[in-house]
Amino acid sequence: MALKKLVAGNWKMHGLSSDIGEIQAIAEASRQYPQVDVALCVPTILIERAARAVPGFAIGGQDVHHAEKGAHTGCVSAHMMRDAGAVLTIVGHSERREAQRESNDQVKAKAEAALSCGLGVILCVGETLEVREAGDAVASVEAQLDASLPRTLAGEADFAIAYEPIWAIGSGKVPTAAEIGEMHAALRRRLIAAYDDSGGDVRILYGGSVKGSNAAEIFAVANVDGALVGGASLKAADFMPIVAAAAAAG
Ligand code: PEP
Repeated sequence: MALKKLVAGNWKMHGLSSDIGEIQAIAEASRQYPQVDVALCVPTILIERAARAVPGFAIGGQDVHHAEKGAHTGCVSAHMMRDAGAVLTIVGHSERREAQRESNDQVKAKAEAALSCGLGVILCVGETLEVREAGDAVASVEAQLDASLPRTLAGEADFAIAYEPIWAIGSGKVPTAAEIGEMHAALRRRLIAAYDDSGGDVRILYGGSVKGSNAAEIFAVANVDGALVGGASLKAADFMPIVAAAAAAG
């Protein structure tokens, strides 16, 4: 049976208090699509205001520190994020793996910290263009996934993977349906190897230049259980067609 699709927006470092109205517009419009889970991962500073503005709608963060508390200036723990009203967080986004030099071990620790306090996780993996062109994309992303996965999925919090080819993020370039299908099938096999039957229930999102115009084609690919959306999640007018495509794909 197909998994319920999840369409999550990643606002990255975009959004001020004056943009809460856009979050409300997305939350309101999403009610038309109860067959899809919709979430917005907003800047940390907006989480509490956003969560208060749209009760019942899933607001998330974009990263957490792996420790519960301590001397980590400028960092935010999973507990703090939950306390602010977030129900999920992204971990291991390629922009953090690259700019903050986050390792697979750190991503794994972050995912475990989030899940252990009941915060859902979207764990990102993806290859560079160089790796794709060398023909090593599947092996490289499988290895990244294996090394980043939390030890256990026990608990109530939702856990999803986002396959985000780095060269597709914000570039307008998207892999072919066959390339996405090949990668998602490989990730599904790795998830089942890691978690037995529960690996079949982990949603695998595609991310990288998803738009209203290409969403239906992407959602039609086997093992694509939703999308992580950057640029096109900032405005309801751009985001909602993606949610509608997810609803239509079933
Ligand atoms: C992202 O960075 O998670 C992303 C998918 O960005 P975009 O949709 O803008 O390519």
